[in-house]
Order: sequence, then structure tokens, then C-alpha cells
Amino acid sequence: MTKRKSTGLSKSLVLKGLQCRKALWLKKNPPDFDLPPRPELEARFAAGNEVGELAQQLFPAGIEVPYAGLPFAAQLARTKQLIENGTKVIYEASFSRGGVFVKVDILVRDEFTNSWQIYEVKMGTSVKEINLDDVASQYHVLTQCGLTISAAYLTHINNRYKRHGELDVQQLFRSEDVTAEVVERQEQLAEQLEQLRNTLRLDDEPTIDIGPWCTAPFECDYIPYCWQHIPNNSIFDLRGRGINKFAYYHQGVVKLEELPIAALNPAQRFQVEATLNKQDTTDLPAIREFVDSLWYPLCHLDFETFDTPIPPFDGVRPYQKVPFQYSLHIQQQAGAEPSHYEYLAAASANFDPRRELAEQLIAEIPAEACVLTYNQAFEKSVLRELAELFPDLADALLLRVDNVRDLMVPFKKRHLYRWQMAGSYSIKAVLPALVPELSYKMVRVLGVLREVAV
Ligand code: SF4
Repeated sequence: MTKRKSTGLSKSLVLKGLQCRKALWLKKNPPDFDLPPRPELEARFAAGNEVGELAQQLFPAGIEVPYAGLPFAAQLARTKQLIENGTKVIYEASFSRGGVFVKVDILVRDEFTNSWQIYEVKMGTSVKEINLDDVASQYHVLTQCGLTISAAYLTHINNRYKRHGELDVQQLFRSEDVTAEVVERQEQLAEQLEQLRNTLRLDDEPTIDIGPWCTAPFECDYIPYCWQHIPNNSIFDLRGRGINKFAYYHQGVVKLEELPIAALNPAQRFQVEATLNKQDTTDLPAIREFVDSLWYPLCHLDFETFDTPIPPFDGVRPYQKVPFQYSLHIQQQAGAEPSHYEYLAAASANFDPRRELAEQLIAEIPAEACVLTYNQAFEKSVLRELAELFPDLADALLLRVDNVRDLMVPFKKRHLYRWQMAGSYSIKAVLPALVPELSYKMVRVLGVLREVAV
């Protein structure tokens, strides 16, 4: 007897299926293929949970229907009981209808109209199309279950909030009324859900080719599996805009050499010709000019920062980059062995490392030194934010900003280009092409420029 296929859908499966029906099918019928782990998703998931729990404070004294350790049926029964008991606010209320199971982040009873308000919490900073599909699927299931929904809101992070003292959740979050958009989606959503159920009934993998949907709105888990047939040096390795790569792909153009060269802009033409001919470029006068613009002592500076949706300290906005580490290599003269200095914040919760870091940095980087970074915009913005935060250190920090020079420039302008860089000038592309050994990476890259310039 043929086993009947499960067509059950959760909210996340619905969203996966709306992005690509093949991804939904593969989720339920995993391919015999080793997919690489994606640890960043776990970190995002944990951050999302933290944001969701904090947002519950917008409607305090609610009762939660836990997910962990409770079977779906028990979650549904618990929700039903809370509704019947007159509970005003329910966190993670659970509903199922038509084979779709959803949990609502915050469900608020509107006592005057005997209806309910849906609040979906997101850690983003604006309302996105995919969020509207998310809320629409909750609205669909809840109304099918017989609830009247008076309003639906998308609650997201307000990135203009700056923390002062205790977290102010009313300021940290912004709720936008998305009722009209969600209601408008209902008719189409019913059809889409039917398509998704039909997809899950299929015995064989749906024949859906790769497309822009592989990376938007999310990067799909199955890219390594579905993109196996794309060779190295394909049209998808082409940098820059102005080329509809999927339009070419659907015409059978896959390899770089198959692209009509006349359709490319000068930078793309440069990339394609360099790759196909394995051709390097060295603009000696320009490299010499760059090397001569630097002076000693020369400090190679590299910050590490973290950013979180919930500002951890005073004076920090959501997603503001907070420096917690720097690496500094100081050369007293050209070709000299660098001395290494480093700041690493103590790993303790609620410790704001910025003052300590700024003071140590000023003590270690001589006022007159050349400060060499890779992609100066980032290091400059960190230094400027520190200067804004600590007015008494501002002059010293801004002096270091004035002395910043950018090691990325010769590569961005292609004064030195190796065909292995594949049109990129990021440190990740430049390093392996120039100096595969990773120690003193920026010192070594400058060393290569110096050797070329001699
Ligand atoms: S990689 Fe692309 S085609 Fe494959 S399942 Fe994902 S979205 Fe669909």
C-alpha cells in the first residue's frame, strides 16, 4: 500500500514554500546530499527568540503557550482553554486549520468588540513583503478557526531608539498596522496554500530551476544541491550590475566566455578578459604613488565589532556596531618586523568595552603615525563614533581618523590585480591571491605592494 504523504504545513513551511515550492518539497523529502551547516542561522534564531520574549513586555501579564515539550495537540488545547477562560493576552497562541499550524507571537483580546489583535514580532527594522505573508497566514488560520481579528500588527525594532539607562521597550519597538495588506492577501493565500499542499503530494522533486528566488527573501538551504551544475567561472561570478544573469542563463549562457562582451561594462569586461586569459595587471606608477603616500611609524589597524537588535549599553542604538577587539601591527620603518598589540574586551555580561578600548588605542597608536586599514570607511566610522561618545578623547581619536589610509585602494582601482581575484577587491579575494599564509595579513599585503613598487 502506498504511504499517504503528509501535507501538514507550519508557518515557516508556508513561507519556505512561497519562496520556492521545491524548497518546501525538499524540506519534507531531504535529498541524499550533504548540506553544509549554517551556524549563523542558529545565532539568528536565538536572537529572534530574545527579541520575541522582550516584546512580550509590551503587553505584560500574558500567559504563554510553550512550544518546547508540548505536542501540537496540547498547544492547541491549551490555547482553546485560555480563550474560553477570558485570558486577555496570550503569548505563542496556537491554532490549526486546513492542515496549517500557526503560532501567534502576541494575541491581544479586544474586549469592547469581542475580537482579537495579532502582533507578529520581527527583529528587522521595517516591514517586508515576507512579513506580510507571515501575518497573512496567521490571519487566515485564525479566521478559519472562527476568531474575529480586528487588527494585525507587525512589531519590529525601532533603529532610531538610543538606550539611556534601563531598556525602554515602548521605544525599542514600533508596531505598524498591516491589517489592510493582510486582508488583501487572503484570497490569493488560500490558492497558494492549496498549491503548497499539492506540491507535498508529489512523489518526485518538483522541476523548478534556479532563479532569483534562491537568495530572496532568504538564502535557500538547498543552494549547494540545486546549483551543482553551475561551473566555476560562470556568469554568476560576474561582478557589478546591469546584467540580467538569469535571463542569460535561461538562454543557455552559463560560462563567462559565453557572455557577449559588448553587453558588459568596462569593469566587467576587465574581469572576464582577465579570468579567461589568466591575465594579471600591475600599474607600477600608481602603486609607487600609493606606497609613497604612506609614512612611518605605520599602524595596521583592524577592528572587530558586534551588533545586536537589543542595545546592550547606554548610548547604543539597535544594530549599532560596537567595537570589542582590535588588532594592531606597528612597523617603525619599511620592511621592519611589526610589533603586535591587541585589545580584547573581558568576556563579562553588560561590560561596555568602548572606553577602555579607546584609551588603549590612543596610548598605542602614536599621534603622528600613519594608520593603515583595509576598507577605511568601517574603521573611520568606528573611530568617529567613539569620538562622539567620549568628547574628552575626541581630539585624539579624530587625529587618528585624519591619519587613516586605505590599503584597499590599489586593489579597488585595479592598480594591482591578479586574475584569481575574480573581479573582487575584498580582503577575502585579495589575500589568497597574494599571500596565502594568513599571518600579519595586512602587513604582508603591503609588503607585496612594496616589492612590486621597487
Ligand atoms: S536552491 Fe533555489 S531552486 Fe533550489 S530549492 Fe532553493 S530556492 Fe528552490
